[in-house]
Amino acid sequence: MRYLIISDIHGNLVALDAVLAAADLETIDRIWCLGDVVGYGPSPNQCISRLRAFSDHHCVAGNHDWAAISRIDIAEFNPSAQMACQWTGQQLSPENRDYLERLPTRIVQGNCTLVHGSPREPVWEYIIYPSTAQLNFQFFHSQLCFVGHTHAPAVFREETSTQKFEISIPVPDQPIPIDDKRLIVNPGSVGQPRDGDPHAAYMILEEEAGIIEYHRVSYDIALTQDLMLEKGLPDSLISRLTFGW
Ligand code: ZN
Repeated sequence: MRYLIISDIHGNLVALDAVLAAADLETIDRIWCLGDVVGYGPSPNQCISRLRAFSDHHCVAGNHDWAAISRIDIAEFNPSAQMACQWTGQQLSPENRDYLERLPTRIVQGNCTLVHGSPREPVWEYIIYPSTAQLNFQFFHSQLCFVGHTHAPAVFREETSTQKFEISIPVPDQPIPIDDKRLIVNPGSVGQPRDGDPHAAYMILEEEAGIIEYHRVSYDIALTQDLMLEKGLPDSLISRLTFGW
């Protein structure tokens, strides 16, 4: 099986389409999406529809997906995120609202667990540091756990013999081998990267070969920015796409 693993699309259809084209959907058996399909970006309905069009896809709920359907309080969001969330909620079609309502917070398939934030706190917790990853290894039982939420690609490896938990930042186009270690893996963000690289990020799990591919792909950032301007979305959300921050 060949899985396309994506996260944090955030309503950026131009970036999503670039990823779907680069990943060559014909070769993909299943899509795993780690949440935050909407929020921030100008095309929430279209992004959900793209996912729904791929019949074998599985998606977990992110905090922005829940915020858009008023399932969580957005008081803790910054003002730009609040504004974008309210706008997103007003745009959603009934079917797409229903789609977001039904998203589970955790999916376990074979050797993999999927969550948005962390296995301990699937919707909210950020796994940025090895210390947080260390605590989270006891909250899932599969070998691999895929997370999103930080918008920054990362791989955390459980070293049971040394009790060390190290983070490595994957290098684009260099495969990540899966050995006997347990891993927490973040594919980065499709629609709003925050690791200083504005290119859309995605991963592909080659199950039989035992490797994870990691790629970045360019997309027409100016086109997404024009659409955001047209919709009256906040300037800070528009400009950050240029810098990947
Ligand atoms: Zn996000």
